[in-house]
Order: sequence, then structure tokens, then C-alpha cells
Amino acid sequence: ATPTAVMVGTGVGASQGVLIKGGQALESAHKVNCIVFDKTGTLTVGKPVVVNTRLLKEMLPREFYEIVAATEVNSEHPLAKAIIEYAKKLREDQEKPVWPEVQDFVSLTGQGVKAIVRNKEIIVGNKSLMLESNISIPMDAEEALAEAEGMAQTGIIVSIDREVAGVIAISDPLKPGAREVISILKSMKVKSIVVTGDNWGTANSIAKEVGIEAVIAEAKPEQKAEKVKDLQASGYTVAMVGDGINDSPALVAADVGMAIGAGTDIAIEAADIVLMKSNLEDVITAIDLSRRTFFRIR
Ligand code: ADP
Ligand code: MG
Repeated sequence: ATPTAVMVGTGVGASQGVLIKGGQALESAHKVNCIVFDKTGTLTVGKPVVVNTRLLKEMLPREFYEIVAATEVNSEHPLAKAIIEYAKKLREDQEKPVWPEVQDFVSLTGQGVKAIVRNKEIIVGNKSLMLESNISIPMDAEEALAEAEGMAQTGIIVSIDREVAGVIAISDPLKPGAREVISILKSMKVKSIVVTGDNWGTANSIAKEVGIEAVIAEAKPEQKAEKVKDLQASGYTVAMVGDGINDSPALVAADVGMAIGAGTDIAIEAADIVLMKSNLEDVITAIDLSRRTFFRIR
């Protein structure tokens, strides 16, 4: 393609809300034959809501959620936002809730959060975080987790002073049209894969819903990038589509990193292409534009 054709292509992209950062990004996109999708906020709406709570200790939901919210209020994660929203509803001061003070807040990317609240050690997150913290998961908690995962929900475990106190089930539905995008990509001979930090049960349920066969779950940010590199090593030209801080290593590793416009600034910076309208359909727009630019004039 001539420099003019590339400029035109980039301009057309911009006018459609597909921000292409330079000619190289536009060129690479036409060779893409494999796309790695993040789950939360990419395939799913990214506005999760609490749909169920299994309390395993004798405490009031209000008290339980106060402690959890105090810990999560410092987190940027969509799951944290869902928990805060739910916790607010259990209180009288709904508009401007004042959560208990916390000390020693720690955020573990792709795993959860920890803090000291009311002199108790609170850990909120997934199974791997509990296992790494040497907290054993009782049978009723396992049951609640399995039930949530079967329905494509995420089960979040809450431990208080190293004992599991409850499981929160959070639902984050697929974006409308996601299934169709995957099916169109298939017809374009592009293979799709889901890579998520979420657990295997939830990941498999979502993948089935959207029509993707290949799934990698419980992946930390570096493992998302590793998967991209593995695919490249087996000969694929790989695009990564993601929205989170946790996706940025993979966005950089990919031949074409595509960030969801509504995603975090770090992901947007790491990407080669930004989907400003946050529409999954624009993954196709980008590839299509590149194919038209680079197959037309050679
Ligand atoms: P995804 O790859 O689907 O965007 P992440 O890598 O961000 O997911 O998170 C992976 C998992 O880590 C989540 O499904 C959740 O179980 C846990 N997690 C991450 N952040 C938090 C948080 N702030 N509170 C509770 N759990 C969290
Ligand atoms: Mg995400």
C-alpha cells in the first residue's frame, strides 16, 4: 500500500471510531488469523452485579458487606464496583456511605484485595488467592462457587481472620452481539480464544455462550502475554483484545493490541488500535479496513 492509502485507511478508521496508532498497526491487522479475547469488560458488558450471597458465618449481611466494601473501595476492578453498589443498598446513608477505615490495603492484580478492617484481616478474591494465603475452603463455600460458575457467574470468596466467611456470586452478562462477532470472525478464517483471570468454570460457561472453543482461565497478566507468544510461535499472527491493566502485557506482546475505549488508560496506552465506541464489532471493522487497504494496492 502507498503512504497515501495508509493515511486514508487510518482516516477512515478514525471517522468510524477505530483509532489506529500508525501505519504499522494498520498493516499488521490484515495478517491477523487468531484473536485472543479478554473476558471481563471485553466479551462481557463489564458492569457486573451481585446476584447472590452465601454467608458462612453468623453475621448480618449488612455487617458482612460493610467489611467487604471497606476493603474493595480502594480497588478499580469492576467486581469491586459491583460489591460497593450492592453494599450501598444495605445502608441508610446510601448516597454517601462512610465505610470503616482500613489499614495495609493491598491489591493483587488478577486475584483480589486484602486489608485490615476493624482489626481483622480481610481477604477478598478468588480461590488462588485463598490457597496462596493458606486459607482452606470449606465444602459449603465450594458448593456456592460451583453453583455460581455453572451459571457463568464469578464466585468471590471473603475470608475474615483467615476463615471463609462468605461467597459472593457476581453476574456479568455477554455483550449483545458478541456471539455474532465470533461467528463472523470464524467465517473470516480468524480463530478466537478466551483468556481470562477468572476461574475455569465461569470461563468455560461464558466461552460456550459466545461460541468459542479455546479457553485459558486463571491466567495472570504475564500468562496472558505468554499465551500470545505461544500462539505466535506456532505461526499465528495474533491480535489481543482487552480492557484492563491486567491485559496490557498481552496487548504489547500481540502483533496487534486492541483496547476497548471504555477500558483503563494503561490498556489504551499499551494498544496499537483503540476501539473508541467499545463495540466488539469494531474488531471486524479494523481487520476489514486493513484488508481493504493492503489487498487493494500492492
Ligand atoms: P479478567 O481477565 O476476566 O478481566 P482479572 O484478571 O481482572 O479478570 O481478575 C481475575 C479474577 O481475580 C477475578 O475473576 C476475581 O476472581 C479476582 N479478582 C480480581 N480483582 C478483584 C477484586 N478487586 N476483588 C475481588 N476479586 C478480584
Ligand atoms: Mg478485563
